Amino acid sequence: MTVGNRQSKIIVLMGAPGAGKGTQARLLEERKSLPQISTGDMLREAAKAETALGEEIRTVQVSGKLVSDALVIRAVEERTAREDCLGGYILDGFPRTTVQATMLENLAADQNHKIDAIFVDMPTDLLEKRMTGRRICPVCKEIYNIHFKPPRREGYCDQHPEIKLEQRADDTAEKASVRLETYERDTRPLLDYYGGSKRLRRVDATRDAEAIYQDIVKIVDEGQQA
Ligand code: ADP
Ligand code: AMP
Repeated sequence: MTVGNRQSKIIVLMGAPGAGKGTQARLLEERKSLPQISTGDMLREAAKAETALGEEIRTVQVSGKLVSDALVIRAVEERTAREDCLGGYILDGFPRTTVQATMLENLAADQNHKIDAIFVDMPTDLLEKRMTGRRICPVCKEIYNIHFKPPRREGYCDQHPEIKLEQRADDTAEKASVRLETYERDTRPLLDYYGGSKRLRRVDATRDAEAIYQDIVKIVDEGQQA
């Protein structure tokens, strides 16, 4: 959508599992009112269904491998067709394959959005602690970390003091290493894809979340002056 000289954007947050994409996407949603679309969250929701499809998604997610392109693409098409996405949106965890990236080009053209990719860049050797230390509130989905962002009371959400934080089934050291392999093989090549078309910006994700956010928000705001 184009409003005046503002071109609405799809912000694609790229980066390895545990780099901090979800944390940044939540900040952008809260402060910039851009819908956050996390395919990982959507699939985890779908995986709860006691159906054959639910079971299939659960099995793939827990294995650390990727769910089929067709399934994820359908979910993204449906979600981004909703009205709240008209002014742009944030993608966290999509695209993860070249097939998904091609689909996104078509979708962006149909929706008249520009694509800006942001590489949330963390050295691989620091990622495991981020993944294995991650804890999530099942109610508000706030993302904690026992090492880097502990809740006020150990094991419980700050906003929902009666709710126990959960650990994702794929956030074990063993699954983290499979997920990193999957990322290197299937997803990292997309950095060249977006870089080659001058649509990729990098942020140093080793810093605290607020410093990273300040860099990201500058990129998001570029070209947005009315
Ligand atoms: P991703 O969505 O890329 O998998 P998350 O945003 O869920 O990553 O972050 C992974 C873990 O690292 C979480 O436990 C989160 O609290 C923590 N984390 C995120 N950003 C930072 C940061 N800048 N510094 C330290 N820990 C962080
Ligand atoms: P995430 O929450 O982004 O770490 O994703 C968790 C898991 O969901 C991944 O390891 C995959 O199994 C699945 N998943 C999430 N997004 C995608 C995607 N775009 N394509 C395929 N599988 C995905």
